[in-house]
Amino acid sequence: MEADQVTAVQAEELNPFHTVQQEIRKAVEAAGLPPAVAEILQEPARVLSVSFPVRMDNGEIRLFRGFRSQHTFAIGPTKGGIRFHPQVTMDEVKALSMWMTLKCGVIGLPYGGGKGGVVCNPKELSQGELERVSRGFIQAIAAIVGPDIDIPAPDVYTNAQVMAWMVDEYSKIAGRPVPGMITGKPIVLGGSLGRNEATARGCALVIREAAKEIGLDLKQATAAIQGFGNAGSIAAQLLSEMGVRVIAVNDSRGGVYNPAGLDVAQLVRHKQETGSVVGFPGSRPLSTEGLLTLDCDILIPAALENQITAANAARVRARIVAEAANGPTTPEADAILTANNVLVLPDILANAGGVTVSYFEWVQNLQQYYWTEEEVNQRLEALMVKAFQDVYHTYKNRNVSMRRAAYMVSLTRVAAAMKSRGWL
Ligand code: NAD
Repeated sequence: MEADQVTAVQAEELNPFHTVQQEIRKAVEAAGLPPAVAEILQEPARVLSVSFPVRMDNGEIRLFRGFRSQHTFAIGPTKGGIRFHPQVTMDEVKALSMWMTLKCGVIGLPYGGGKGGVVCNPKELSQGELERVSRGFIQAIAAIVGPDIDIPAPDVYTNAQVMAWMVDEYSKIAGRPVPGMITGKPIVLGGSLGRNEATARGCALVIREAAKEIGLDLKQATAAIQGFGNAGSIAAQLLSEMGVRVIAVNDSRGGVYNPAGLDVAQLVRHKQETGSVVGFPGSRPLSTEGLLTLDCDILIPAALENQITAANAARVRARIVAEAANGPTTPEADAILTANNVLVLPDILANAGGVTVSYFEWVQNLQQYYWTEEEVNQRLEALMVKAFQDVYHTYKNRNVSMRRAAYMVSLTRVAAAMKSRGWL
C-alpha cells in the first residue's frame, strides 16, 4: 500500500500535463495577465479519443487507440505532431499540445497548439501495417482536422512517408487534394524546401543572436552537442559554418572529443558509414557526463529529455545552453543554470525553427505557390531573430529566467487574442 502511494506521488510529480499547467499559471502571473488566461488554458479546448480496427498481415483484426488534443483556438487553427509510441497517453498528448501553444506563441505563428498520438510500436509493424494504422488514425480523426481547423505534422516515430499516407487518406475522404491539412510531407506532395534543416537552423540562429548579446565571438567559440541526429548533426554543420569549433558530440552509442575541433563534414560521413560517431579518427572517447560538463562555450542538448539535472547542472561550464531537444533540462537544473549565469535558450524558442517552417509549408500549400530554399531560410531568420529579441528583452527587463520570459512572451500574445475575442 505504502509502495503504491509513493509510486502515485512520483507519477504525479512527473505528469507532464500538471507540469505545464503549473508553468502556465506561473507565467500568467509573472506577466501580469488576468488569471482567467490560466483558467482557460489549463485544459485543451477539445480532446478526441479514438479506437480503430486494423487488419494485420496475418489476417487478424487489431484495435488501435489514439488521441488528438487541440489546446486553444484563440489565435487560429491548432498545429502539432502525431507520434506513434507504445507509451502514448492522453495526458501526455494533452501536455504536448499545450507546449505547442507556447512554442507557436513565442514565434508569433497564427496557431494554437495541437498534438496527437497512436498507442503502437512502429518497430513491430510491417510497412503495410504502418500504412493501415496511419490511414486508420486519419479516418478516425478526420472530422476534427483540416487546413482551417488543426494541422498535424511528424513527431516521434512518424515521418514524411506517414504524412504522405495521411494526406492521401484525408484527400480521399474530402474528395479533393488537401495538401494543407498536414505538414512534413515529401517535397513532391507539397513539402517545403528547408524543412529538414529548419530545427537546427533556427537553433543556430538563436545561438548567434545570444552570442552577440553576451559578447561571445563565434569564431573563437567552442561547442559540445549531445545527439547527432537530424537536429544535432545539422546544428553542428551550421555552427561550424559560422566559425564555431565543434569539439565534442555523442549519440546513443558514445561520444567523441577533440579539443582542436572535429571535422563535422567528415564526422557526418563517418556516422553514415558506421552508424555512429564512435571511433571517429583523431578523436578521444567521451562519456555523456563528460560532454555535458565539458569546458566549452555552447552546449546543445539535441537528444532526449531530462539530461541536465540537479545532479550535473552546477558542473555545466558552457555560457550558452541551447535546447534543440524538447525538455532536456529539469526545472531544478534550470534554476541552477540561471543562478550560475548560464544563458539558457529554452526549447520552445531554440527548436521552434521546425514548426516555423511547417507553418511556411502550410502557407505555401494554401497559396499553391512554392518558395525557394533561400526564401524559406530568409523568412525563418527574420522570425527567429525577432523571437529571440522579444524573449531576451523580457528576460532582461523583468528579471526572470529565459524560459519564464519565453512563456510570458507567448502567453501575452495568446491573451491579447483572447481579449479581442471578448473571452476575458
Ligand atoms: P533523431 O532521432 O534524428 O536524433 C536523435 C539523436 O540522439 C541520435 O543521434 C541518437 O543516437 C541520439 N541519442 C539517443 N539517445 C542518446 C543518448 N542517451 N545520449 C546521446 N545521444 C543519444 O531526432 P531529432 O529529430 O534530431 O530530435 C532530437 C531532439 O530534438 C528531440 O528531443 C526532438 O523532440 C527535438 N526536436 C526535433 C525537431 C525536428 O524537427 N527534428 C523539432 C523540434 C524538436
